[in-house]
Amino acid sequence: MSILLLVQCPKCGNKMKASPRGNNLSGKKKRCVYCGATFSLRDRIIRQL
Ligand SMILES: [Zn+2]
Repeated sequence: MSILLLVQCPKCGNKMKASPRGNNLSGKKKRCVYCGATFSLRDRIIRQL
């Protein structure tokens, strides 16, 4: 089961979709497709799509 999340980069502020595998989001990282910054997925979730 996968979920689709809307997340926002803390560095450049751009929003993008993320689809982490599994239910546990803690410790999952996402690389920003715009500026390349890596951030914690859980902290930057705007909403679930
Ligand atoms: Zn960024």
